[in-house]
Amino acid sequence: MFDLTTRDIMYLPGVGPQRAAVLNKELSIYSLHDLLYYFPYKYVDRSRLYHVVDIDGNMPYIQLKGEILSFETFGEGRQRRLVAHFSDGTGVIDLVWFQGIKYLLTRYKLHTEYIVFGKPTIFNGRINVAHPDIDPVNELVLTNMGMQPYYNTTERMKKGGLNSHAIEKLTKNLLAFLKEPVPETLPQWLVEKHHLMSLDEALRNIHYPVNPDLLRKAQYRLKFEELFYVQLNILRYSKDRQRKYRGFVFERVGEIFNTFYSKNLPFPLTNAQKRVIKEIRKDMGSGRQMNRLLQGDVGSGKTLVALMCILIALDNKFQACLMAPTEILATQHYETIKAFLKDLPVRVELLTGSVKGKKREEILAGLTLGKVDLLIGTHAVLEDTVTFASLGMVIIDEQHRFGVAQRAKMWSKNVCPPHVLVMTATPIPRTLAMTMYGDLDVSVIDELPPGRKPIQTIHQFDNRRASMYDFIRKQIEAGRQIYIVYPLIQESEKMDIKNLEEGYEHICEEFPQYKVSKVHGKMKPAEKDAEMQRFVSGETKIMVATTVIEVGVNVPNASVMVIENAERFGLSQLHQLRGRVGRGADQSYCILVTGYKLTEETRKRLEIMVRSNDGFEIAEADLKLRGPGDLEGTQQSGIAFDLKIANLARDGQLLQLVRDVAQAIVNDDPEEKRPENAVLWNQLRALRKTNVNWAAIS
Ligand code: ADP
Ligand code: MG
Repeated sequence: MFDLTTRDIMYLPGVGPQRAAVLNKELSIYSLHDLLYYFPYKYVDRSRLYHVVDIDGNMPYIQLKGEILSFETFGEGRQRRLVAHFSDGTGVIDLVWFQGIKYLLTRYKLHTEYIVFGKPTIFNGRINVAHPDIDPVNELVLTNMGMQPYYNTTERMKKGGLNSHAIEKLTKNLLAFLKEPVPETLPQWLVEKHHLMSLDEALRNIHYPVNPDLLRKAQYRLKFEELFYVQLNILRYSKDRQRKYRGFVFERVGEIFNTFYSKNLPFPLTNAQKRVIKEIRKDMGSGRQMNRLLQGDVGSGKTLVALMCILIALDNKFQACLMAPTEILATQHYETIKAFLKDLPVRVELLTGSVKGKKREEILAGLTLGKVDLLIGTHAVLEDTVTFASLGMVIIDEQHRFGVAQRAKMWSKNVCPPHVLVMTATPIPRTLAMTMYGDLDVSVIDELPPGRKPIQTIHQFDNRRASMYDFIRKQIEAGRQIYIVYPLIQESEKMDIKNLEEGYEHICEEFPQYKVSKVHGKMKPAEKDAEMQRFVSGETKIMVATTVIEVGVNVPNASVMVIENAERFGLSQLHQLRGRVGRGADQSYCILVTGYKLTEETRKRLEIMVRSNDGFEIAEADLKLRGPGDLEGTQQSGIAFDLKIANLARDGQLLQLVRDVAQAIVNDDPEEKRPENAVLWNQLRALRKTNVNWAAIS
């Protein structure tokens, strides 16, 4: 059997140089293999006919046999549309087009039998099918149509005639062209053990399912394989890494840690904090490099855990570095940690972009000489001029703002990579964490410090502003502070600043008796900090801001978070923002303000926010609503591959299964020598050479 990956798509009957160029550019289809793995996104059963009387607006796709009674056009210019009144004898529906009206009028004849196929909707009380597929009755044999595949195509492709139908013809040509079966890519024993369909059968059924049952089996087989190789890759190469990188052994818990624990700690640790610190200590003492993800909802007390781990490093005569995504956050960590440490003999320095000149040189020299014990900073700590005498522990806060590359960069700051602890308040669902971070161990703080009152969340339409302002006024009179957040969308930053400015003016007018702070991303760090400081100190009562305050900031006296245009935020982001309040002992509130017109999805998102305070539940819901590709933060945090068929939100169980299977294989065949696994190791090597950026996930 020839290698499909090396066969240019251009030579497939029906393609040619022009279409090949479009397929290359629009869908990254270069070879026969690429087309074979371009799967339909849905299938429609085209073997049955419906009757007009039976149709309502909720049906997915319908097929009717009948004739066009008359044509009518409505509207002018861009609004112009053509309506064909279509009947099958049981009733009449409207077929509607917004484009190509002239052509359509010549193409379709009155009183001729057609088969019409499309999605029904209700418009002005009548059933409409917009842009239907229409074929003359004698050109379709319905019993042969079976399940029809639908392929995604782009607007540009449709213009060039490469719509779903055209792709369908190409895949048909391709499958007919494959005389021999496509070679199996999983070992025979594995296929048998898990009752999988063969690869050849699966590929044929994924494009042209014989029936729904075989389609399901084909999907299962292809998902299994896809997730299996992702997991095998992660496990196989993380084993390599563990062998290659020995870690520093932090064997003792010494004076600094103990003094801190017995004297400085202002409150007892929660059980979850204790458990997590134990897990981390064990890891750092094991002799292998730690690579751990610490998840904990907003306000769960991750900073303190980080600090205590840092103290263990210091007790073992190593330096530590804590990296935060923004200047505000780094500064706040610096101050919190200084306050926690009090007069313990630990030298802490803050390094951000705005630390310059002599101060900067002093810090850099102190690091090189080993006189600075703990460096806290922003991206600035990654620069090459920052060198440590003996860096042993790195903590990265709010991971979703940093990428894999930055993580790797910190590894290179010592001859032997330091232990790495990545902290995130975006609770990444387990299935996703397993796949994104693969080799990262995960610790979870699943408990909030005692005494917190759950935040009350309210959804408010923006025409009810007056009562909201009354509420805010009462809260301020009771001594509380208020956040008002505006969305920020990068494409139109100017617009957003305008929104924010208008909002700010409006708030100043509405609350003349109080001082108002304003913070946005375009301000200079020093200005931003000064404004933030005015709010922290209580001088200003209201903080009007963009999402720059999203992460980490801690003002326990703030009790109301108003989010304007809440429909423009993702769920995880709303949850993060909400986490800025509810940090003190008072009842806190989050008010989500939107207009009346909301999509179904937005409505669901807001409902979840109102109902739940649980970050994990929200992250799961987010994943289900939007799919993992969109999950905030995953872009930058290194999900380095596209899944063609599996879905991390829905295939969690399968993911767990294949991970176990892959783990067993890595354990049983460490030398990769067993003949029965040859197929599998070859396939893994082949995959590492191709499309996916595997290096980034291993
Ligand atoms: P996050 O996990 O969101 O980073 P922080 O570390 O900022 O949370 O902690 C939130 C607040 O809870 C801080 O004011 C911190 O001092 C406080 N805190 C942390 N641990 C405890 C504890 N065990 N008991 C009481 N308060 C705590
Ligand atoms: Mg934090």
